[in-house]
Amino acid sequence: MQKLINGLLQFQNEGFGKYQDLFETLAGGQNPAALFITCSDSRVNPNLLTGSDPGDLFVLRTAGNIIPPYKNALGGEAATIEYAVQVLKIPDIIICGHSQCGVMGGLLSPESIEDLHAVKAYLEHAQSCLSVVEQKHSQIPDSETRLARTIEENILLQLENIQTHPSVADAIGRGDLKLHGWVYKFETGEVSAYNSDQNAFLPLECNSPPIT
Ligand SMILES: [Zn+2]
Repeated sequence: MQKLINGLLQFQNEGFGKYQDLFETLAGGQNPAALFITCSDSRVNPNLLTGSDPGDLFVLRTAGNIIPPYKNALGGEAATIEYAVQVLKIPDIIICGHSQCGVMGGLLSPESIEDLHAVKAYLEHAQSCLSVVEQKHSQIPDSETRLARTIEENILLQLENIQTHPSVADAIGRGDLKLHGWVYKFETGEVSAYNSDQNAFLPLECNSPPIT
């Protein structure tokens, strides 16, 4: 904890100055470029990996970057998405999973989360991706590759779940909103994006197409 307090004091004394003009501008309102949905994992830093500044990203972090379908739970996730799309009129939503995701590991090894009642309940919103992994990837012998495929399938499932949110469906229907599915490999900094034409996650490029 002391490291965090020291860091805060240093930011106030030395770091804030370079952002002062930006924050004064942002005091007049925010206009983020994207809603960035990712896992709560401490190794994922959305601003760092996208080289973005305060004001650029509206961020939603959940266990395993899971988005409950709209009808199941009108909680914080639904509220954040609705505000981002309807009020801020965000033009892009990125759902970004990551390598070594412990939540997805729990999905593959339910015995490891037996006593984690909230995690188990929340993982119900990712359960159907497990059957997809079992159908499509049952031949994968090693657990590391199996986890990687699960992380990808979960992103595809959450891209479906988010489209059950009326604000998202409406904005996509009007052509005002695009969805993107990313996997961030924090060990190397690599990001792959889902390409629906090729039905595969490919290295992110300048012209990587959106899902919708
Ligand atoms: Zn994670």
